[in-house]
Order: sequence, then C-alpha cells, then structure tokens
Amino acid sequence: MTSTLETPTLHPDVKRFVQGAPLRLLIGGRRVASRSEKTFQTMDPATGEPLAELYEADAEDVDDAVAASRRALEGTWGNISPAERGRLLWKLADLIEEHAEELSQLESLDTGKPVTETSMVDIPQTVDHFRYFAGWTTKLTGETLPVSFPGEYLAYTRREPLGVVGAIVPWNFPLMIASWKLAPALACGNTVVLKPSELTPLTALRLGELVQEADIPPGVVNILPGYGPTAGAALTRHPEVDKVSFTGSTAVGREIVRNSADHFQRLSLELGGKSPNIVFPDADPDAVAGGVMMSIFFNQGEVCAAGSRLYLHQNIYDKVLEKVVERAHTIRQGPGVDLTTQMGPLISETHRDRVWGYIQRGKEEGARVLAGAERGEGKGYFIRPTVLEGRDDMEVAREEIFGPVLTVLPFKDVPDVVKRANDTPYGLVAGVWSRDIAKAVRVAHSLKAGTVWVNGYNMIDAASPWGGFKQSGVGREMGPYALEHYTEVKSVWVNLT
Ligand code: NAD
Repeated sequence: MTSTLETPTLHPDVKRFVQGAPLRLLIGGRRVASRSEKTFQTMDPATGEPLAELYEADAEDVDDAVAASRRALEGTWGNISPAERGRLLWKLADLIEEHAEELSQLESLDTGKPVTETSMVDIPQTVDHFRYFAGWTTKLTGETLPVSFPGEYLAYTRREPLGVVGAIVPWNFPLMIASWKLAPALACGNTVVLKPSELTPLTALRLGELVQEADIPPGVVNILPGYGPTAGAALTRHPEVDKVSFTGSTAVGREIVRNSADHFQRLSLELGGKSPNIVFPDADPDAVAGGVMMSIFFNQGEVCAAGSRLYLHQNIYDKVLEKVVERAHTIRQGPGVDLTTQMGPLISETHRDRVWGYIQRGKEEGARVLAGAERGEGKGYFIRPTVLEGRDDMEVAREEIFGPVLTVLPFKDVPDVVKRANDTPYGLVAGVWSRDIAKAVRVAHSLKAGTVWVNGYNMIDAASPWGGFKQSGVGREMGPYALEHYTEVKSVWVNLT
C-alpha cells in the first residue's frame, strides 16, 4: 500500500472529499476560491505524501469573512429566537453524529492520530459540545438588581452577544477544539470566522458543509484555511472582530495579546502545558501504569494536557516504572486510519525533528533512555514512545515537547512534590494517584492547575470548565464558565418616578 487513501476500510466520502478540486473557503454561505487564488497542500503524516489541496486564505479573505459575519449578525442571526438557535445547534450535532465514521477517518488521515481515538473521543466530544450548548441558548438570563441609588428604579442586567468571534485552532484536536469555540459562541448569538490550522484544515471544511446542511444562516459560520502569520494574524488584528478565541502555543498567544492592544478585542486563550502526574506509594500500580500511558502516549503526546512529568514516589518508583516501560515497548504504531494502530505519526516533519531534538538534548544532559528514543522507518513522521529518567532541571522536564516523551522523576514526600510540580510557568492540568482520598484532595488543592484529575487522566466533558492557570491561558472554555467569555453584560436602569 503506497497511500493511506488505499486503506480498504476508508469511507468513500472521505476519498471524494480529499481528492476533489482544491477545497474552497466558506464565506457568507458560499464556497469560494481565495482572492489570491493561491493554493496549499495538507500532507499525510503517515507517508509524508500530499493529501489534499486547498485555497489559501489571506488578509483580503479575512476582510470578506468578517464583513459577511457582521451582516449575518445584523440580519437573520441577530433576530432569531434563542429556541431556534438551540434547534439549529442540535441539528448540526445530529448531522455530525450521522457523519461520525467519515469525520473520524478524515480527522485521522489529516492528523495521523488513531481512528480508534477520533471515533471514541474527537467526534463524540464534538457532538456533545454542540448539544450541551444548544441547551444554554434559552438559559442566558440576566438579573434584577437591588440598587440603593436615591429614587425608584428598575435595574437589571442582560447578556448580549459580543458580535464577531475570530476562532483560531491548533492541529492536535482540530474538529473538537473548533467545537469548543463554535458551540458556545453560536449559543450566545455571536457569529464566527474560524481559522483551522494550516496542517489540519479538512474536518473544519467538512463541518462547513454540515453547517450549510443544517440551515444555519449564511455568514454565521465562515471557515478560512490558511497560515498563522497571514490569515491568523489578520483575524486577530481586525478592528471589526469583537473577540478572539485562541487555542495554541503560549508564544503565539503572547503575540495575540499584543495584537489586541489597538482594538481591545476580548480574548480567551488556551495555551501550552508541562503537566505533572504524581503517584503516591499507596496507588494501584496497574491502574497507574494504564493512566500514565493515557497521559503521555494518547494522541502521540501531542496534547496540551500531556502528563509529561511523571513524579513517582521513591517507594513505588521501580514497580510503576517497570510496568510503564514494558507497556511503552508494546505500543503498535502505524497510520491513523489503520484500525490496529495504537499510536500514529507526529503531525509534520518539522515537528518530528523538533521532538527528536528534545530527545537528543535530553540524552546529552544525562537523561537515561528506558524506552523509545527511536525514529520510525519510511517517510512517515514516527517516533517511538519514549521514556526518559531525568531531573527537574533538564530541558525535557521543563519545556513543552508536545510529543510522546515522558520524563520520570522520583520524589520523597508531599511538600517536596507539590513544590516541584508547581515550579513551572504553566498550569493547565495535573494528575494525582493515591488510595488515600483525603491526601489526594489536599494535594489537588495545592496544585496550581486549571484541572486536577485524581486516580484517572484526560477526563473531559462539555459541562466541566477547561483552561489554565499562569501561562497556560486566560479564561475558561466549557461549562457555564464559557458563557462569560462569549457575552457582554449590560446593565439597564429605568427611572420609575
Ligand atoms: P500554534 O500556536 O503554532 O498554532 C495554533 C493556531 O494559531 C494555528 O491555527 C496557527 O495557524 C495559528 N497561528 C500561528 N501563528 C499565528 C499568528 N501569528 N497569529 C494568529 N494565529 C497564528 O500551535 P500548534 O502548534 O498548532 O498547537 C500546539 C500548541 O497548542 C501547544 O503549545 C499546545 O499546548 C497548545 N494547545 C493548547 C490547548 C489547551 O486547551 N490549552 C489545546 C490544544 C493545544
């Protein structure tokens, strides 16, 4: 088999979609070529071969999409009832569910991640997100206020949409993270210009077709595949964009904050992480070993929440480490669309080389290789699941690698591990493993992280807030907390005298 497109189980619509003419932008309900008519390719990370060709959006297309978004806001979308908005979001969720097999394969082809993961996580989570926020459309209430200002007043608050939302998403969970932004933004009555990552734009464009099929009015959702420094930057600087919702690296997040200085666009930022996973000696070693695999090798370790620093108590160190290393050796790698694959290739050649560089420098700094640290054969961007024994001051234990590289670190007691776990500029998530729930909860409360998982890892749900402390982000997605970030609060005073 030379191309993953020849995989016998591939859905015919997936092949049709990627092999069509250059894929078009979605602007104002129309599929259009970009103004420049320039195209670019997305690659198959399992083979290094081109996968699909797309028109490339740039600043002029951003102008068009923002204008279409504004028209939709001032037209039909601004005037439909909350219940109707909810119905349309629910209809979109149904369509995504109907096309789940096709979408999970398309996502696996473009990202390289196993189809077993996209079909169990990415697509169902996307569906849930639209359903969860469909329910919120009719519950966005304000309150009446007991004001003491002299006189007699009816004082109350309203939640109003922000307006046009620029949504910028990364390549690791392209459709799912797009839904984390689209669902609350639309539920609150905003319109959206979505820029998927240039590396993984395919499911966003297929979603655009489903948005049209769901009869969501033209211009409410616009989709612009293109590069970060061009299309992405133009979106973040645009004076008519009221809010930028960004998920990606901390470095780009910083640039977006600077870009917002001219117009004070509202911002929510979901950024990087270097998360600690802490194991106490009374934890169940088998459960821990499974949890560790999930924390670092799920999605090739290309996960903002990756538990890349494994803190093992010295009294359980050898027992857990042995199991982790044994399991790391047995992980089956291959193309994402192959049903037997447990871990796919990394997203690109550049990223593979970046991850490889971290492993090499880790070895130079004295990290001991216990598993992996090997590249795959052939043209795909594979790196074997890697386990390193290291120290807190090593680069591999300090920087976000965003790949299948675990650094294992021993600790002696609670104060020692809490201090070391918190000694990072990041604060996205943390894991704690112990049968002593009181101790686990006390440690969970001392960790500076937006989410702490006790005796499990990677649990997410549309109802549970997601976001980072410190340099892992600003704001929260998911749950009712997301609504704060997609509405303005207005207070209205009516003089009753
Ligand atoms: P990235 O920052 O390189 O790119 C993210 C998106 O921003 C892409 O769409 C890209 O085209 C765009 N972009 C790049 N430069 C831009 C610019 N100057 N202006 C505007 N947009 C620009 O990140 P990535 O490599 O795609 O993703 C990996 C990073 O994302 C990791 O750091 C990871 O931790 C983070 N991430 C965070 C979360 C979270 O929920 N906190 C989730 C997933 C990924």
